[in-house]
Amino acid sequence: MDFLLPGEDDPIRLGVKAWIKEHPKPSARDLAHAGFVVPHWPRPWGIDADPLTQLIIDDELRRAGIRRPFNPIGIGWLGPTIIKYGTEEQRDRYLFPMLAGEEIWCQLFSEPSAGSDLASVTTRADRDGDYYVVSGSKIWTTFAHMSKFGVLLARTSGINDSYTSSAYDDKSYSDVIPHHSGLSYFICPMDADGITVRTIKDMTGHESFNEVFFDDVRIPAANLVGEIGDGWRVAKATLGNERVSLSSEGLMWGAGPTVMDIIDLVADNGNSINPSLRHRLARAYIDEQILRLIRLRITGKAVAGQERGPEVSIVKALSDAHGKSVMDLAVDIAGAAGMLRDGGPLCGMVGWEQGHGQTWGRKRTLGASDWMSGFLFSPALTIGGGTAEIQRNIIADNVLGLPR
Ligand SMILES: Cc1cc2nc3c(=O)[nH]c(=O)nc-3n(C[C@H](O)[C@H](O)[C@H](O)COP(=O)(O)OP(=O)(O)OC[C@H]3O[C@@H](n4cnc5c(N)ncnc54)[C@H](O)[C@@H]3O)c2cc1C
Repeated sequence: MDFLLPGEDDPIRLGVKAWIKEHPKPSARDLAHAGFVVPHWPRPWGIDADPLTQLIIDDELRRAGIRRPFNPIGIGWLGPTIIKYGTEEQRDRYLFPMLAGEEIWCQLFSEPSAGSDLASVTTRADRDGDYYVVSGSKIWTTFAHMSKFGVLLARTSGINDSYTSSAYDDKSYSDVIPHHSGLSYFICPMDADGITVRTIKDMTGHESFNEVFFDDVRIPAANLVGEIGDGWRVAKATLGNERVSLSSEGLMWGAGPTVMDIIDLVADNGNSINPSLRHRLARAYIDEQILRLIRLRITGKAVAGQERGPEVSIVKALSDAHGKSVMDLAVDIAGAAGMLRDGGPLCGMVGWEQGHGQTWGRKRTLGASDWMSGFLFSPALTIGGGTAEIQRNIIADNVLGLPR
């Protein structure tokens, strides 16, 4: 994204540079304690950074080749929920190890019969002294197999029996119907007795999400986040952060290549594609430019201290479909080799480079297997974090104000 940032003599930039000079190879803990992992979080976990400061810090870390710790779900959308709704003890215990990537987190929301209609979860948590006893199952839980903790949405009372309209009088809860009541939000230690995690192999051959079974799992009552029965409000905060986190740059939820990588490949290969593919490539480029401009508008608004607008929902809806269609296009451009996971013997003829582990990015070499993984993963883009249809429902309700 091209956004004109302050120059080399900017005092914030100089401050970040000075810190990097003192910490040329910072540990994850160094970054976390400096507040550089998520600078806009409040102190002491962040530095209450305004958007411009965040952009400068990002820029300086990138220039110095410093990478932030890995904990995408925790840092991306669970942490802000714990900051907002957690107790002081919870914030003290969990946030720094989360920021430093020492304890990986997962999100235990979806169930076999509760995905888009998340409020239909049936996993139960029943109070027993100082504990809640949890039974039920979750599915599609990304990173459950490597997580130390998860956030768990479970039913603590029956449908309707604790519903009070006053709990949901906030405008953003206008769509609340009674079965959103009686849900509670917990921090769940993933090594607790009675938890079974079973990995699911996806189409790429990787195992990144899981089924999770709860068989009378005892979770301390102190792990409740927010009020009992008010878990829907807390979960909505998590989902709001998820939708923002999933719609940054890159074709795969902000990661991965961009259309320009394919254009480079085609151009470097003598432009030898048929007119229909050229047309699709031009269309993809136009879509990418539109998305870039919308993102720029979002950044511009943030820098100017304005509220997030409808652009956030729109960019998620557009970028998921865009990622999917560009991955289809990449494989179509590869022709027969596009049917082969490793590019195969035709690899050289279509401009694919073989190999693993290269970094994504314009003018870098992308392995055929990377494109194929992207193609096989891409149907997930319009499902995870709220399906394409649900995104359109949100836009219809919240942006267009259409009747339900
Ligand atoms: C890669 C990936 C990672 C994921 N990671 C996690 C995770 O870490 N934790 C977690 O809890 N979940 C996770 N999920 C699950 C994800 O949140 C759900 O798959 C998603 O919310 C859809 O739910 P569902 O699969 O039950 O589909 P359903 O809700 O059953 O939907 C089926 C179809 O019906 C459509 N539909 C449903 N309701 C409506 C409606 N009201 N209006 C119009 N159309 C509708 C949907 O759009 C969809 O096409 C992940 C999913 C993916 C793909």
